[in-house]
Amino acid sequence: MNLSPFPRRRYTAGKTPLEFLPRFSKAVGGPKIYIKRDDLLGLTAGGNKTRKLEFLVADALEKKADTLITCGAVQSNHCRLTLSAAVKEGLKCRLVLEERVPGSYDPESSGNNLIFHLLGVESIEVVPGGSDMMQAMQGVSEKLAAEGRTGYIIPGGGSNEIGALGYVACAQEIQEQMFDEGLALDRLAVASGSSGTHAGLLAGFIGCNMNIPIVGINVSRDPEEQDPIVHSLAVKLAERLGIAQDIPGESVVTFGDYWRPKYSVPNRKMLEAVRMLAGTEGILLDPVYTGKAMAGLIDLCRKGFFSENEAVLFVHTGGSPVLHPYSKTMLGLEEPAE
Ligand SMILES: *Cc1c(COP(=O)(O)O)cnc(C)c1O
Repeated sequence: MNLSPFPRRRYTAGKTPLEFLPRFSKAVGGPKIYIKRDDLLGLTAGGNKTRKLEFLVADALEKKADTLITCGAVQSNHCRLTLSAAVKEGLKCRLVLEERVPGSYDPESSGNNLIFHLLGVESIEVVPGGSDMMQAMQGVSEKLAAEGRTGYIIPGGGSNEIGALGYVACAQEIQEQMFDEGLALDRLAVASGSSGTHAGLLAGFIGCNMNIPIVGINVSRDPEEQDPIVHSLAVKLAERLGIAQDIPGESVVTFGDYWRPKYSVPNRKMLEAVRMLAGTEGILLDPVYTGKAMAGLIDLCRKGFFSENEAVLFVHTGGSPVLHPYSKTMLGLEEPAE
């Protein structure tokens, strides 16, 4: 698999660390858990969108765009990182935020909202939950065009067949690290949301002939809805990359037991997972994605889903700035959902 024909910008120096978590593995009661520190990727405060933006922004620059347009939830990591890439490239950035939980947009809140303003976002439009986000972004693009400017629309989460190339590249990076560090990994666990991360890793592993099953832990949908989204993006990627093998439907495995009551709304297991990794290894997760994904991994370990001698790699996709607007829950001052 050759990624070199695809235009790419570079936002991270070198590879992200792949670390063993001895104290956390022990606290969970086995198997051997490793972590891929994509929370340490480049751009403002890192996270998985940085890898996708390397390919998306390269495409935007090729198309002579002067403004990046994207969308997300009110505390979107993807919006923070798209804006950060725009700043680095000398582009402007306009955001459309979806208020998925009614009343959740607070213009004075901390976390990513604060960073949007520090990085100099050009405009923020807030729309109600369930709005047609693509249509809203097209509206922004048309307004720019009327002023003689050129917008480039990046879909939510950067999850199309360009952005997901970032996680095909990550699959190659993991393969190199396994070889260089003499590591045998049996399985990978990752948060599955807009699905570019999951689909990119899946297509990447298949394209690299790496037989490492992936467990997706959903942050907003049950498997019946999520699996086809992941699969269809992985198939599109495989086509684009000229991967000869099929992406079998059974290779998409996700769990939907950890995201409730709702996307971005805290639950008890998330809080336990965030506290456990912080308290055993000094690594911060986030309440919306990696906390729920790690809660899933912990629960699967406890249920005996993995055998004791397996080595499982958890991909840390970032998001820790969002701990701050959730401080009441994280401090135990507000009860999360069951
Ligand atoms: C966006 C995001 C995810 C989900 O990744 P997708 O590619 O959208 O599935 C996971 N973790 C964090 C911190 C994110 O910001």
